[in-house]
Amino acid sequence: FSLDKTDCGILSSILAILVTFILAKGKIFGTGNKEDVSASSKSRNIVEVIEECDKKAVVIYASQTGTAEDYATKFGREFQSRFQLSTLVADSDDYDLDNLNEIPEDVLVFFFISSYGEGELPDSATEFNEYLDTIDEGDLQNLNYTIFGLGNSTYEFYNGAAKKVDKDLIKAGATKFVPYGDGDDGAGTLDEDFLAWKEKTFETLKNTLSLKEVEAKYQPAVSVVESAELFSSSDDVFLGEHHRAYLVEDHAKLNLGPFDHSFPYLAPVTKSKELFISQTRHCIHAEFDLSGSNLKYSTGDHLAILPPNSNEEVDNFLKAFGLLEKRNQVVVIKPLDTTSSHSFPSPTTFDSIARYYLEITGAVSRQFLGSISEFAPSQQVKDLATKLSKDKDLFHKEITSKKFNISDALLYLSQDAPWTTVPNSFIVDSVPNLQPRFYSISSSSISEKTTIHVTAVVEAETAPTADKKYVTGVTTNLLHSLEVNQNAKNDQLYATYDLDGPRGKFSATKLPVFVRRSNFKLPTNPALPIILVGPGTGVAPLRGFVRERVAMAKMGTKIGKVILFFGSRRSDEDYLYKEEWVEYAKILGENFEIVTAFSRETSEKVYVQHKMLEKSKELVELIDQKAFIYVCGDASNMARSVQGALATVLSKEKGITEDAAAETLRKYKSINRYQEDVW
Ligand code: FAD
Repeated sequence: FSLDKTDCGILSSILAILVTFILAKGKIFGTGNKEDVSASSKSRNIVEVIEECDKKAVVIYASQTGTAEDYATKFGREFQSRFQLSTLVADSDDYDLDNLNEIPEDVLVFFFISSYGEGELPDSATEFNEYLDTIDEGDLQNLNYTIFGLGNSTYEFYNGAAKKVDKDLIKAGATKFVPYGDGDDGAGTLDEDFLAWKEKTFETLKNTLSLKEVEAKYQPAVSVVESAELFSSSDDVFLGEHHRAYLVEDHAKLNLGPFDHSFPYLAPVTKSKELFISQTRHCIHAEFDLSGSNLKYSTGDHLAILPPNSNEEVDNFLKAFGLLEKRNQVVVIKPLDTTSSHSFPSPTTFDSIARYYLEITGAVSRQFLGSISEFAPSQQVKDLATKLSKDKDLFHKEITSKKFNISDALLYLSQDAPWTTVPNSFIVDSVPNLQPRFYSISSSSISEKTTIHVTAVVEAETAPTADKKYVTGVTTNLLHSLEVNQNAKNDQLYATYDLDGPRGKFSATKLPVFVRRSNFKLPTNPALPIILVGPGTGVAPLRGFVRERVAMAKMGTKIGKVILFFGSRRSDEDYLYKEEWVEYAKILGENFEIVTAFSRETSEKVYVQHKMLEKSKELVELIDQKAFIYVCGDASNMARSVQGALATVLSKEKGITEDAAAETLRKYKSINRYQEDVW
């Protein structure tokens, strides 16, 4: 994070020019909020921006959780640096993309498209998708493009969104200058898939388009300047607040919303409890109170939680960059190019950047190590980092298999010496932004109108390294820490957090949240039967469904049968909401049945899909009565096994082939009679 005098001199000159330019256009920096920056500095006409800023390449991304944005940004920066071609990185949500054919023919267009749900484009690309549906043959014959798709092969419609965009563009006559690439998060190879595709793409561009390559050198997209005037106690310094309204305590706005990623609602967690009976495994039930706000949800939606990083990881990160002593230093962050933006508030401090704004944990990538190696603290460390970044197998052996995050890897390579020569801007540019985590809401908006429940299993394991460090999930350990604190317990924690938050604003147990709408919805007719399959925390939204039917039964509404398949390891360890189901059965009577599968109580492992086969006759009777089917939980194996079991059930009871049964299930999916909420 340090800048030498020359860097500072260059940066101040650039800044002076920039500030003059920006002021001249009446633009205001300062909130650091992506929306503010993009709204003020960009036209929505992408062709206009390309021409005005003389861009030679465009990287357009459609991102649901921030991953496609991260890859697109990394790619855009490296492309610009290696080929010296000015590159625009653009969120599909920020532009009207209905004039792609007017992009100058010599401008290369790269799409980074994430798939979501049933192979759909992210919400942010809805307008782009609608436009694609209207284009005809020949409409895009000037467009030169390629696509990298980010998906998960455990889902049925693997990379469905990227494939759809590719198909539409080909149909419209666009030219693909290098082959399409698939990145697979399901197989855990997204990073390697991206690197392989990127290298092939660069090779092809060099060979076919004769692009000249220079050695990639880091070029900052932002300036990060240490302030001598501002202090962490200054009123307009962001210490972890996600939005200016929290700084100025604009109470009307704070309760009114609309709430999203850059403006979350600070919701009180009124109740939390441990759901497992175990010394080593934990699952937290937490209740968020919305009553003071305008925030609404409907049963089946997702709650997004914006977590801070743990104290241990913040310290480790600051140590790796030699910033422990300077953690409260205020920095001012500004984009160096009017077409780029950075997505968190400024001015802020190094501590707040590490704690609230950057994704400092998670596996470090080979690409990251490669790009940071130029700033290694010594030639020896630089050589080692470069070697590892170029050797996939060695990188896996030395870094990934040890479950190192960024700071673990840097300190391991430098034998604990801090990387003080890394520019401040590199950290802000290259470490991804901290993303919200999503939870399927486990309450019902009919029975709990102003309270949202979530059910989260705590992610923690020990690293296979000599120090046996805990490798922890950010949000679930935050919830664990909050639960232990709220209930005054003294359980062992795998990570600790500043639960009071910036300026004590999270005290009395509040967390920043927002709601994401989902399509996982009960049938509008409550008299229809429902088949629910949710092992582990997959039961979360299904609990919401059952609570909804209980509330309706209490109001005298006629309710259809509910059959719930739940599975876990043991009935006395992780049987979620065990006591509640008994209470629901008392109200719903014969209309409620829970079928359990405890995999570690029998010699042969029994899972929910096995129990479904045993209940085949009853399931088909319900399907004949127009039952809706809901499956929630693990996307990698469970959802597919359950679909297979349902096909077997239909085939057996109806006397049809498994293929015909599978086709019937596909049809149910297309009309929303078979819905999945899997992750
Ligand atoms: P993260 O910080 O995201 O870490 C993810 C994993 O990586 C953890 O296991 C962590 O231990 C591991 N890790 C950390 N560092 C490293 C490293 N250096 N190397 C290797 N591994 C590392 N979950 C629920 O429990 N309940 C729900 O109801 C639920 N609903 C969901 C609904 C949707 C639509 C989606 C998309 C997900 C849902 N999830 C749910 C999953 C949830 O969003 C989180 O992914 C999960 O809780 C882990 O979040 P975390 O912040 O604790 O872990």
